[in-house]
Amino acid sequence: MSATILSGRTTREALIPGLKRRVESLKRAPVLAIIQVGERDDSNSYIKSKKSFGDKIGAEVRHIKLSEGASQEEVLRVVADANKDASVDGIIVQLPLPASLNRDAIIESVDHSKDADGLTSQARTVPATARGVLELLKQYDIQLKGKTVTVIGRSALVGKPIAALCAKEGANVIVCHRGTPDLKAETLKADVLIVAAGHPNLIGKEQVKAGQVVIDVGINTVKGDKLEDEVEGTKLVGDVDFDAVKEVVAAITPVPGGIGPMTVLALFENLLDLCENKV
Ligand code: NAD
Repeated sequence: MSATILSGRTTREALIPGLKRRVESLKRAPVLAIIQVGERDDSNSYIKSKKSFGDKIGAEVRHIKLSEGASQEEVLRVVADANKDASVDGIIVQLPLPASLNRDAIIESVDHSKDADGLTSQARTVPATARGVLELLKQYDIQLKGKTVTVIGRSALVGKPIAALCAKEGANVIVCHRGTPDLKAETLKADVLIVAAGHPNLIGKEQVKAGQVVIDVGINTVKGDKLEDEVEGTKLVGDVDFDAVKEVVAAITPVPGGIGPMTVLALFENLLDLCENKV
């Protein structure tokens, strides 16, 4: 039997009216500043989808672009300006940054009261991808309390905050990484398997079992035919072999259309929480 498809796209669509109402109850349209350094195709496309979602709910997205060669000082100055600008409610620094820059110092320079990505050490918000994952599970009524959740990936931006939020919900969390000796043994223990490794086809049908919920956070660009959401000649895939795994498990997220849209939603929920001083 084929799995239930956990659609982030449909779930997000259903949540838009609630976000619009929150925007309308503010004194003015909320403003999210996105600071981008360089011209990566993937970053351009993520920023485009953030802008278009902002338009849908009535939030303003200000795209601040710096050249690939911008210095650490220039980037810090632009962040400081956005911190000071009273018309800006939330700030994100689009990642990844060019390798020549000190990413951690730039992220940390964002005023924590405007940190819409939840990445500063004093952040009031939760990192958007983790919030998006939890929100999708909630919308499909998938409880985590008492469940075993295996998270593959432990980056500070994605895997770690997902694991922390699942633990907060009462799950028994197993965290795996490149050094995990027997990944399959850990994935087979899971009631909910969350994969955030950045490695296409890391999880195939041998690594999963009947009844599991599989959340594929990975976004990888591989060669492919021209399809929806894709730059010609390339396509987006997750970390899970979707076609094979969906025949085994109970529920699975697609890529694209799974956690990606939920991450954008969560970013704007963070922005609204900051505007409403809820956080
Ligand atoms: P990262 O490279 O910083 O971290 C990857 C983590 O996965 C590391 O902890 C590493 O140890 C682990 N890992 C990698 N290969 C592994 C393997 N073979 N076996 C076990 N563990 C392995 O990447 P990241 O920033 O955490 O992003 C992870 C993925 O999530 C990427 O594909 C990224 O594009 C995607 N992502 C998606 C969204 C979204 O909205 N859906 C948002 C952010 C990131």
